[in-house]
Amino acid sequence: AHACVESIPELNKMVTGVQALGNIRVFCRCRPLSKQEISAGFGQVVDFDAAKDGDLGILTGASTKKTFKFDRVYTPKDNQVDVFADALPLVTSVLDGYNVCIFAYGQTGTGKTFTMEGTEQNRGVNYRTLKQLFQIAKERIDSFIYNISVSVLEVYNEQIRDLLSTSPTSKRLEIKQSAEGFHHVPGIVQAQVENIKEVWDVLQIGSNSRAVGSNNVNEHSSRSHCMLCVMVKSKNLMTGECTKSKLWLVDLAGSERLAKTDAQGERLKEAQNINKSLSALGDVIYALATKSSHIPYRNSKLTHLLQDSLGGDSKTLMFVQISPSETDLNETLSSLNFATRVRGVELGPAKRQV
Ligand code: ADP
Repeated sequence: AHACVESIPELNKMVTGVQALGNIRVFCRCRPLSKQEISAGFGQVVDFDAAKDGDLGILTGASTKKTFKFDRVYTPKDNQVDVFADALPLVTSVLDGYNVCIFAYGQTGTGKTFTMEGTEQNRGVNYRTLKQLFQIAKERIDSFIYNISVSVLEVYNEQIRDLLSTSPTSKRLEIKQSAEGFHHVPGIVQAQVENIKEVWDVLQIGSNSRAVGSNNVNEHSSRSHCMLCVMVKSKNLMTGECTKSKLWLVDLAGSERLAKTDAQGERLKEAQNINKSLSALGDVIYALATKSSHIPYRNSKLTHLLQDSLGGDSKTLMFVQISPSETDLNETLSSLNFATRVRGVELGPAKRQV
């Protein structure tokens, strides 16, 4: 049987030992040191002693440590199955009519794509989520009819691109609001999928088109947001009630700051747009977490697209991805500070003494 979370109190119970933070969860995942980092003799700055309690220590100096608190902390030993097990309650709630947003944030090279996409041998959250949705839909076949479709978008320099579109259109894609209040992008491909094989084919088309028109695919993907949207329509066969829900699975652009020497031309524009959209995302979630009266969704394409799945009774999960290496300390602290703010918790001063 699969966990089916009907209410937030139940979800809070499942995420044990964590203060109730409404519908926003932040999980921190640290990748292993790479072979190159090991052979270069780089040290680790991450302390996982209290990782089980959601505490992560960062050694900021010879005798200083800063502690961060999250809903979950994954060490490099935790695998894709461990991570997905914790995301599962959110995923299943999509079939109960909730809107959900799961995204990976962090410096380039910290494992955002590994967590969301994974590899063929070691699949990530996207594939496992869709597989689980089909599985549960099958289990509920006597009571519900589900219709699942997926779209794959990329946001680069504040422009939306449909990665499933085969027609080379130069028309700008815009976000519109439907009569029911749903935000959508008219004209994008919504591929109907019936099983995980079809999903895999669609994801392949999406990642192939990401490569088109860029000299360096890795560089391009680190500077754009890759967004998978899963639409679920359901009909309750007992009551006749129909619901629509939306799940966003997002691999964000790298959060690293641009070196001053690179700050010109196209690179500068890219960096400013990434900065703008990631700050907008932080501002929206912070405004939600602190119950602000104004939620600034319209400040970026990213937050505008995600609007239905951020706030209200929708559920949000952020993976903050970090590197263990001493050479990435500044970026790691910056990502952890961002994630802490997203949880709606003010930052305290660094603790003395390790
Ligand atoms: P990003 O998307 O943040 O730029 P990647 O997902 O491309 O980062 O990860 C960078 C490298 O680190 C890849 O080779 C990836 O396979 C590896 N990696 C990341 N996270 C893990 C992990 N938890 N376990 C093993 N390898 C990982």
